[in-house]
Amino acid sequence: MKLIIASNNAHKLVEIRAILGDEFEEILSMAEAGIDHETVEDGSTFLENAEKKAREIMEISGCCALADDSGLCVEALGGAPGIYSARFSGVHGDDAANRRKLLEVLQGVEDRRAHFACAMVLVRPDGSVVRAEGRMDGVIAHEEAGIYGFGYDSLFYLPERGCTNAQLLPEEKNAISHRARALHALVAKLRKNP
Ligand code: IMP
Repeated sequence: MKLIIASNNAHKLVEIRAILGDEFEEILSMAEAGIDHETVEDGSTFLENAEKKAREIMEISGCCALADDSGLCVEALGGAPGIYSARFSGVHGDDAANRRKLLEVLQGVEDRRAHFACAMVLVRPDGSVVRAEGRMDGVIAHEEAGIYGFGYDSLFYLPERGCTNAQLLPEEKNAISHRARALHALVAKLRKNP
């Protein structure tokens, strides 16, 4: 069976192909499938947004479609920025501004616990849906460290590793990331319910 990933993000495609490669005959990005489509992400949860993206791509292509939605949830902020992680500072996709804003709102806050959350949703041509979630726990550091990764990685400190996500090599982070965990949970569900 063919699977279309509702993304053109090269890093996500590598990660998804590595974990789902054995489950599908062919895995294509939207660009490879000739699809140019932007979903309006107006859901109120990661799962709702991922399902909306996957369903729209399934409807356009007639193939199985997989989408993810992810973000950073900070305990002391009641789970914010959550689904608004990409535009926390007000400018969509400005990672440096988002990190500055996070440090600003956490100034003087002692409880720095946070997690990355990821929802992965697969929608099949018959309309059936497989949902999976993954998370990665850490704390928000007081200053940035590390050169790898993206988004909030240089502020996301992993106590058990003694470093931030951005100090892990990409393959080290990919082995423990919220996305990898959601993908492994999805594979387990697909194998139970092919
Ligand atoms: P997306 O929906 O997966 O593209 O992620 C939305 C936003 O969440 C990104 O723009 C980042 O700010 C943040 N984010 C998601 N996953 C990660 C990660 O693995 N590291 C750092 N930031 C992330």
